Amino acid sequence: MNSERYSRQNMLPEFGTDGQQKLEDAGVLIIGATSIGSTLMYNLASAGVGTIGIADHNIVGTSNLNAPIHFEEDLGTLKVISAARKLRAYNSLINVIPHATAINKDNAYEIISQYDIVVLAVNNPQTAMLVNEACVELGKPFVHGKTNGFVGTAGFVLPHETPCLACFFGEELPPEENYGSVSGVSSTVAALMSSAVLQYLLDAPVAMKGYLFIYNCMTATIDKIELTHRHDCPVCNQSADAEEDYDDFDEEEV
Ligand SMILES: [Zn+2]
Repeated sequence: MNSERYSRQNMLPEFGTDGQQKLEDAGVLIIGATSIGSTLMYNLASAGVGTIGIADHNIVGTSNLNAPIHFEEDLGTLKVISAARKLRAYNSLINVIPHATAINKDNAYEIISQYDIVVLAVNNPQTAMLVNEACVELGKPFVHGKTNGFVGTAGFVLPHETPCLACFFGEELPPEENYGSVSGVSSTVAALMSSAVLQYLLDAPVAMKGYLFIYNCMTATIDKIELTHRHDCPVCNQSADAEEDYDDFDEEEV
């Protein structure tokens, strides 16, 4: 551990040496090397998260240069290679693992099971629901976020405790649309998401747990909607019997 590198956060009692060790021991999978994913990568690498996995199968195109992890010289390069190169240069103490593949039914469980927490930063509804199913079944927490123009949303799902994506959206998410994206909105949503990841890894209460945060750039407001379980949820209900196995996250003990 390089204590001087992380000294600015370690002076906070919520971090400290013990907290820094927790971050160093942790693995986070970021699905989507997008504009949201970019800011998240920098935030988590800055904080010293020991292992950052990145899953994306696309190459960097000109329209992707709104994502601060990709430079003009990366045009035509796999996004995961472009992102891994920057993160390794930014923080050589961390382990960066590129997964140059789309998350699908054949690989979702194998890849997700390697990490402590997942970040879902894609607009693709099929991928989102697949990741939701895999995380609930594996008991992996995940943070999801997306933007739509000047509005961004973010939420934290703790399987068998909070509602999942299918509780909120039903069995099918709205079809994918080519939303406009503003970097400031993406960065704000990513900051909210990365805070939730760090809170979880530090065993601190996760402010986003069970809520959907809605950030509106035009009104400079963040609204919180408390989510409720859907009793006939096709994802949560199938794993209801395993609920007792996943009750070790207790805010009262923090
Ligand atoms: Zn559910």
